[in-house]
Amino acid sequence: MTINADVIIVGAGNAAFCAAHAAREKGASVLMLERAPQSENGGNSRFTAGAIRFAYEGVDDIRALCPDLAEEQIAITDFGSYTTDQFYDDMFRVTSYRTDPDLCERLVMSSRDTLHWMRDKGIRFMPIYGRQAFKVDGRFKFWGGLTLEAWGGGPGLVDAHTRIATDSGIEIRYGCRVLSLLYDGHHVIGVKVKAQGEVFELTSKSVVMASGGFQANPQWRTRYLGPGWEMARVRGSRFNTGEGIRMALDIGAAPYGNWSGCHAVGWDYNAPEFGDLAVGDNFQKHSYPWGIMVNADGKRFVDEGADFRNYTYARYGRIILEQPNQFAWQVFDQKVTSILRDEYRIRQVTKVVADTLEELVSKMENVNQQGFIEEVAAYNAAVQTDVPFDPNVKDGRGTEGLDVRKSNWANRIDTPPYEAYQVGCGITFTFGGLRIDPASGQVLDCDLAPIPGLYAAGELVGGIFYFNYPGGTGLMSGSVFGRLAGDSATR
Ligand SMILES: Cc1cc2nc3c(=O)[nH]c(=O)nc-3n(C[C@H](O)[C@H](O)[C@H](O)COP(=O)(O)OP(=O)(O)OC[C@H]3O[C@@H](n4cnc5c(N)ncnc54)[C@H](O)[C@@H]3O)c2cc1C
Repeated sequence: MTINADVIIVGAGNAAFCAAHAAREKGASVLMLERAPQSENGGNSRFTAGAIRFAYEGVDDIRALCPDLAEEQIAITDFGSYTTDQFYDDMFRVTSYRTDPDLCERLVMSSRDTLHWMRDKGIRFMPIYGRQAFKVDGRFKFWGGLTLEAWGGGPGLVDAHTRIATDSGIEIRYGCRVLSLLYDGHHVIGVKVKAQGEVFELTSKSVVMASGGFQANPQWRTRYLGPGWEMARVRGSRFNTGEGIRMALDIGAAPYGNWSGCHAVGWDYNAPEFGDLAVGDNFQKHSYPWGIMVNADGKRFVDEGADFRNYTYARYGRIILEQPNQFAWQVFDQKVTSILRDEYRIRQVTKVVADTLEELVSKMENVNQQGFIEEVAAYNAAVQTDVPFDPNVKDGRGTEGLDVRKSNWANRIDTPPYEAYQVGCGITFTFGGLRIDPASGQVLDCDLAPIPGLYAAGELVGGIFYFNYPGGTGLMSGSVFGRLAGDSATR
């Protein structure tokens, strides 16, 4: 392998492609090195639903970003707005006010412009009807600050990025695992890469690291997230093992952010070790706000209706992992099964159905039957039935007097047939990583000085997310900081 380039980009997921487009539009020659074979391209970005969070002012933004959307459809939809203030508030609230204010400001303030930039590059978006808006009295109302997704979801996003990159002359090499950075003690001057069993050294003016977090590395998970994390299933790519982070640390980069934190969700208990591209994100089970979750003791352990699922799902995986034997069952009755998300209707689902609660729990493997029956009885008695149920708003229909309160969307479990779904913990991505300069995307060293020639974007950047995460922000973070890094890397 002899190709050298102005900018080498490590990885070929969403953050990497945004960096590549930004560098290319400045006239740089760009080489993307991706560890996975082409048949597994796109990293975690391919596994997503393509949902992407951005600040918008109203329907005109949606029209501009989704020109295919019919006026009749717009007429029956309340898109509302999602202001930069709301985006800030969500980021600060869900991260318990830990998010780095400068990184957060860059993320929030650049989000709208970055989505329009992506659209101008040729990436198409559409509203997330169904998952983020329910039809009530003939109208759709979007909630939770998450309104658009990439056309064709994660696969559509990655395919569009790949086409745009190839058309603009960006070179993408698959099956190329970057092993280390070439560093002269001052500048990063290229990478050492392994391809087809041979090791090569490639030089460049700068390198952008966009090679993901360490969620697919069970040793690092256990070391940094804590005991038990080796048992989690990986929701996405098996290739995000923290190598990019390790390479940068090896030359003195500063670690940053919530190294013991991650995004993790309720994930089908029998899902495979890593993500399965044929199933995508459908092993997730995100309709728990409409029912209850119980553990092996038959007991509820979390407020299923604490907030819209966008603001709770990313931290509930950890809570499930902490339960006895690391599993939970989600239980629903017929009043809500029609609004369960599509992922509940896939073939590869761990599900039991019964006409009585006694029969149901006898089918729910390893659950204390007596404990469950008592728990449902106490829960049913505590539901505030005088408050109307409304899935489009935080309806305040909660429970009264329970140790583990349910704050919204509480319904009695009393209408058979009953359905229960077994979930374990699925890890999405890790929050700890490298420290970058928020103004340039340049990687900082342990003295907090920029490392010449080294930039970073995407999952491997630390300091943005702590404890939790507002849904759809991972792609936006990769887009904003990828674009920034690619642009800066050409200077
Ligand atoms: C099931 C699932 C659903 C999700 N849904 C959403 C969603 O709807 N919206 C949202 O915003 N976020 C979602 N996320 C999170 C989102 O996937 C990530 O935040 C985002 O895709 C990260 O992008 P990235 O470019 O940083 O990493 P990736 O897309 O993972 O790209 C990193 C790439 O680097 C490559 N790589 C790793 N090591 C090396 C090496 N040594 N040499 C060369 N290449 C290497 C990997 O193979 C990979 O292709 C979801 C994640 C999963 C798993």
